[in-house]
Amino acid sequence: MLIRELVRRFLIRQVDCGNRVTVLRALSVKPQPKSDLAEFREVFSKAKHIAIITGAGVSAESGLPTFRAASGHWRKWKTQDLATPQAFSRNSSLVWEFYHYWRELALKAKPSAVHLAIAECEARLRQQGRAVVVITQNTDELHRRAGSKHILEVHGSVFRTRCLSCGDVDVNHNSPICAALEGKGDSDPNCPDADIPVGNLPRCDEGGCDGLLRPDVIWFGETLDSHVLTKVEKELDACDLCLLVGTASVVFPAAMFAPQVASRGVPVAEFNIRPCSSTSPSTFYFQGPCAETIPLALAPHQSEPM
Ligand SMILES: [Zn+2]
Repeated sequence: MLIRELVRRFLIRQVDCGNRVTVLRALSVKPQPKSDLAEFREVFSKAKHIAIITGAGVSAESGLPTFRAASGHWRKWKTQDLATPQAFSRNSSLVWEFYHYWRELALKAKPSAVHLAIAECEARLRQQGRAVVVITQNTDELHRRAGSKHILEVHGSVFRTRCLSCGDVDVNHNSPICAALEGKGDSDPNCPDADIPVGNLPRCDEGGCDGLLRPDVIWFGETLDSHVLTKVEKELDACDLCLLVGTASVVFPAAMFAPQVASRGVPVAEFNIRPCSSTSPSTFYFQGPCAETIPLALAPHQSEPM
């Protein structure tokens, strides 16, 4: 009896061990993302609904700093410490100086080859009854200026303001955004803070409200806009191809989106300057400057009507 029990336990351990080995084998044979452009182009040629998720690497192609990165700095501050509701209530002048600097940089920047290739792809595919949506975490509106029409800005835009009193959201491309910020916002660490009185910072002109305005962007510690997220979810559920450009599938917020798409068996293709993460759920991975890889990847096929 005892021997039979020992044998039974031994067999269970063996089976258990065997299962684990099988699982480990399955994990270890998870295919690495492919870098075969011709194969990607084949998939791309058949896709009817393409979601393109873009990140800071795309703005960097236009010479804009990656302020949301952990390494981002302005003057002597980490930008992650400035882009918070707490920083704004502590020192609205300083935060507005930073955003004024950012807005002026973005206004001077030009859409890169990546922005233009994505916009051109959307226009071309629309003629063929196919859809492209840009889901971007960038707030510089360069996709819009490049000509993209269907854009979801998950982190808002530095060219929109939101009133802290009445909640009104307004488009604002003024340069400078208010007289008191003219010539302010220098990023030099030795530049003195402007200490602008709060009454002279951007104010709401909606029906005599005069409330303090803030940039209509998502700050660290804030949740993403639920209306935008609902639209993103819908697009991700509908897409039959997903591209990640200038961002990684393992970095927030793309990390929320890419695995969801991949889990439906929809191909995900990453285009990034950094090496591929070992946990990437992507089917394709193209390492290198997006300004080189994306125009090639999204170019018209020879047989395709222009
Ligand atoms: Zn207002």
